[in-house]
Amino acid sequence: MTATLPMTATLIDGKAFAAGLRAQIATQVQAMKAHRITPGLAVVLVGEDPASQVYVRSKGRMTREVGMNSYEHRLPPETSQQDLLALIDRLNADPAVNGILVQLPLPAHMDEAAVINSIDPAKDVDGFHILNAGRLATGQKAMVPCTPLGCLMLLRDHLGSLSGKNALVIGRSNIVGKPMAQLLLRDSATVTIAHSRTANLPDLCRQADILIAAVGRALFVKGDWIKPGATVIDVGINRTDDGLVGDVDFDAAKQVAGAITPVPGGVGPMTIACLLANTLTATARANGLPDPEGLTP
Ligand code: NDP
Repeated sequence: MTATLPMTATLIDGKAFAAGLRAQIATQVQAMKAHRITPGLAVVLVGEDPASQVYVRSKGRMTREVGMNSYEHRLPPETSQQDLLALIDRLNADPAVNGILVQLPLPAHMDEAAVINSIDPAKDVDGFHILNAGRLATGQKAMVPCTPLGCLMLLRDHLGSLSGKNALVIGRSNIVGKPMAQLLLRDSATVTIAHSRTANLPDLCRQADILIAAVGRALFVKGDWIKPGATVIDVGINRTDDGLVGDVDFDAAKQVAGAITPVPGGVGPMTIACLLANTLTATARANGLPDPEGLTP
């Protein structure tokens, strides 16, 4: 009789991967500076949401750390949409600004889509502009949303080719689920998108060679939903009494999966690194240079 030993998945270390990526970006920024080009990223924060303030601070710090210029614009919560659009217009026209990021969520009195679509698509380093979403969906050169781009990089690094693999994306948001599915499709995976109305989710999960969880519910994906040997990417960031946890029940899933990202230290650090990657790509394109190697899908 053979005893079944509990498996332990390989840990996909997004923190280390992101550090390597930022080092690579810093080198390329130095090379651009030799040609008198310094990439610049403008981050706009409206209001005082504490989580957004933390994100904006760390984005600014990491932008400076790779040698780029960081421009931070903090506007009071009662700012009118007209004033925000006027600022975006100025940033669109400013040649020192290569990337513009408007931190979401915006206050309730603003039309998020109208604000995002007012950003010059060439400077839309979040990849949320409708033109970039359309370009990604039709296989054209686009600015690609940072979180899915980071997930794709981790998957390619771990698996090599994704061709023919069954991929399940749980979540259909415009910022994670949908662009993630587009990127997987582009890499020739067979893609299923699940959401809150999906029937038999555990069974769908059990067929997935690649499982991406972007749900926003703590420990939602159970260990016995995972296909043995699957690669699991946990996008979720949930604050609980036990600290930050993902959408996947990590302790149970790691006994079954082939590889898994931890939370924290998985996808999170990749998102900011990919924001810097997109800023570098936007700068290269604005200056007629080829896309930097390894930073675009
Ligand atoms: P959204 O709330 O916009 O989307 C969540 C998705 O999950 C929706 O499509 C929803 O379905 C689906 N969902 C909810 N409940 C269920 C359920 N019971 N079964 C199946 N699907 C369900 O979230 P985001 O996409 O913005 O973010 C997802 C998670 O990723 C969050 O935890 C967020 O904090 C995190 N995140 C992490 C980032 C990082 O850098 N690591 C960056 C961005 C997000 P429906 O559409 O039917 O409502």
